[in-house]
Amino acid sequence: AASQDLRNGLQLEIERHGLKENVKVFKTGCFGFCQNGPIVMVHPGEVFYCNVKPEDAKEIVETHLMGGQVVERLLYRNVDNQVAQRMEDIHFFQAQTRIVLHNCGVINPEEIGEYIARDGYMALAEVIQKNNPREVIEAIKRSGLRGRGGAGFPTGRKWEMAAAQDVRPKYVLCNADEGDPGAFMDRSILEGDPHSVIEAMAVAGYCIGASQGYIYVRAEYPIAVKRLEIAIEQAREKGLLGKNLFGSSFDFDLGLRFGAGAFVCGEETALIHSVMGQRGEPRPRPPYPAQEGLWGKPTLINNVETYANIPAILRNGWEWYQGQGTAGSKGSKVFSLAGKINNTGLIEVPMGTTLRTIIFDIGGGIPGGKKFKAVQTGGPSGGCIPEKYLDMPIDYESLKEIGSMMGSGGMIVMNEDNCMVDIARFYLEFTQDESCGRCTPCRVGTKRLLETLKRITEGNGEIEDLELLEELSFDIRDASLCGLGQTAPNPVISTMRYFKDEYLAHIKDKN
Ligand code: SF4
Repeated sequence: AASQDLRNGLQLEIERHGLKENVKVFKTGCFGFCQNGPIVMVHPGEVFYCNVKPEDAKEIVETHLMGGQVVERLLYRNVDNQVAQRMEDIHFFQAQTRIVLHNCGVINPEEIGEYIARDGYMALAEVIQKNNPREVIEAIKRSGLRGRGGAGFPTGRKWEMAAAQDVRPKYVLCNADEGDPGAFMDRSILEGDPHSVIEAMAVAGYCIGASQGYIYVRAEYPIAVKRLEIAIEQAREKGLLGKNLFGSSFDFDLGLRFGAGAFVCGEETALIHSVMGQRGEPRPRPPYPAQEGLWGKPTLINNVETYANIPAILRNGWEWYQGQGTAGSKGSKVFSLAGKINNTGLIEVPMGTTLRTIIFDIGGGIPGGKKFKAVQTGGPSGGCIPEKYLDMPIDYESLKEIGSMMGSGGMIVMNEDNCMVDIARFYLEFTQDESCGRCTPCRVGTKRLLETLKRITEGNGEIEDLELLEELSFDIRDASLCGLGQTAPNPVISTMRYFKDEYLAHIKDKN
């Protein structure tokens, strides 16, 4: 979006006007308001400029920085035409609760001092000082935090299981192998606030008795990788990673490992194989990674967003966190909004927020006055949710009930022009392509499923094909080894459930 040109332009104008000593330009991570970027925030005053172009740099410097006047034409206008001067005046942000994203877009992620200035590494310091790992694990259990990578397993129980193992060494792993089409939550967290993940991993290491951790990150995320490298180096320089943290006997360090874009490596056992340099294939569980993970040793594995919640929970107390969300799903969830929606971007809302609030209030509705048709949640493993569920509060349980899932948090919105059979075919092409081939139900089953879908979408389908689709879907779901195969038929199952008329229309067209 030409942010780099804008930054250079601002710097040039500042120098040209002799303001170099008084005004600094910092780059930040993403605010999430992607549709209206690039964004420039001017301090003091936190004036929030949207859709700024490189050629606007001169006016910002001359009118705002030198003249003391806000450049009104660069301010955002809400749908009611009200001008928003600060971030909190914008409707897009008003319905959000930013726990994980509270530093994203606000701090310079390449400067550790900015993270520390916003209470960064306080949680780690306190955990080490109090020296009561059991109490920390108890707090995480009580907070109700569940894994944000997909399955929603209670995080505290995972930590407890890893802590209970007598074997040494142990490892802490971070799954940053975000592979769903349309998902960019973890990428934005790593680009905008890498220290929150590093701090949480050090806390985890202290709690379970590990002194080495690894972040498995996609090589296709070069900015995230670069910022992690800088963050790890700066944390080492400050004595926040390495030997004798905070003067204690606790050592903890981190290394990066790179994924090469295989979707299946987001599955924890496949990821562990990949970190060890082996082929990224899942294996049956148990034993769980907390019992036998990296090099056969107990390994705690959580995803980026799960870790990013930990410092806030420890700083504010588990009661604070537990007080947000629904009965079974506490806290907030980060979602990426993509597809046919006005405000494409990244949002964070309390669990239990309705899809209507997300898509219409925060997301700004459907472009071009078109009608909403469905939203796909949970990526290729999720399902398509129709209009009748727009007012349902969403959490892990409710999404499952209606045939979808939370997944990692990708949301793709479809409008009246989308054919739902084509959508199911698109997702199946993806999962079929990404199947590692280890087990037959997934390797062969998804291929047959895709062939049937192709037959239907190409106008060669028969009514019996619908039965075959259903039967195959349930067989693949029940007999596959890992989550990829078990959830691959979900887009077919959910579109058959809610949009069967579109399948029938394809078949009728042929006849
Ligand atoms: Fe591989 Fe698919 Fe079997 Fe998972 S379900 S192990 S991805 S073949």
